Amino acid sequence: MSALRLAAPAKVNFGLRVVGRRDDGYHELESVFLPLDLADELEIEVDSNGPRSVDLTLEGASDDVPAGGDNLATRAALGFLAAAGLDHRVRLRLRKNVPSAAGLGGGSSDAATVLRGLDSLLPGAVGPLLLHDLAVGLGADVPFFLDPRPALVTGIGERLEPLSGPCASLILVLANPGQPLSTGQVFAAFDALTPTRRPAPTLRPLLSSLRTAPADSRALCVLLENDLESVARRLCPAIGRLRSALLEWGARAVGMSGSGATVFGVFGSEAEARQAAGRFEAPVWSRVARTQESR
Ligand code: ATP
Repeated sequence: MSALRLAAPAKVNFGLRVVGRRDDGYHELESVFLPLDLADELEIEVDSNGPRSVDLTLEGASDDVPAGGDNLATRAALGFLAAAGLDHRVRLRLRKNVPSAAGLGGGSSDAATVLRGLDSLLPGAVGPLLLHDLAVGLGADVPFFLDPRPALVTGIGERLEPLSGPCASLILVLANPGQPLSTGQVFAAFDALTPTRRPAPTLRPLLSSLRTAPADSRALCVLLENDLESVARRLCPAIGRLRSALLEWGARAVGMSGSGATVFGVFGSEAEARQAAGRFEAPVWSRVARTQESR
């Protein structure tokens, strides 16, 4: 029997542009993904005396997170065992600290972390290419979390370019209205309201604002624009109120992560961030978090 403990980090999207729609319904995106120090906690135990099975113990999860075979962590483990042709028994213990259906990639990160955990407990059982294919099959954001680092992400989420050049860790306040917002619902509303696609300007020229943040907040504000925010705000008006509160309480720039509903403010100091985060009241969930630096 072998075991491992891993952190499954959340991410924020610094800017998101919808650049196209594929025939299979997936949207082509351009976005900067930054891993956070906020993470779910995962314990993985492998017993080679089968039968092939995955038991999941879930802690701290909201009602929308499935406890059994539909959980992305369970699906990742079963997919790994099937691809490797192994009749092992896997036990997973998952403590959810990242709100779900929040645009923070929690479920995708859990799935990827199970894949990389099993890959290190059972080295060579599946090769890197198959591991990547398993990740893509579980969800568009999953490959990013196989090796989470600041990256420009394109395609449906499977094309990853680590950011070149140094970029400091940024201090954020995350605020979520306390209600799940379905990614599918946001994209459906986006398609209904934006039937003709304008060519979206690329994010590439804006990446330098990450290096000057938070001092040059004007440049950062342009990068942080998220094409999904206006439809997300129609579905969840609290997003607009959280954005205004963060700006009023000292954020240099504010963005929405992924398809929402989590909004984040970039702050100049930990003290300012702590003070702002402490002002939100239930049902709003808020946290101070730091983005991973790049070198
Ligand atoms: P993304 O940023 O990748 O769009 P998200 O943060 O909006 O993702 P998730 O937290 O990944 O959304 O969860 C979306 C849905 O996936 C949940 O509402 C839940 O029904 C389902 N789900 C399955 N497994 C998990 C998991 N391990 N954690 C959270 N949600 C899960």
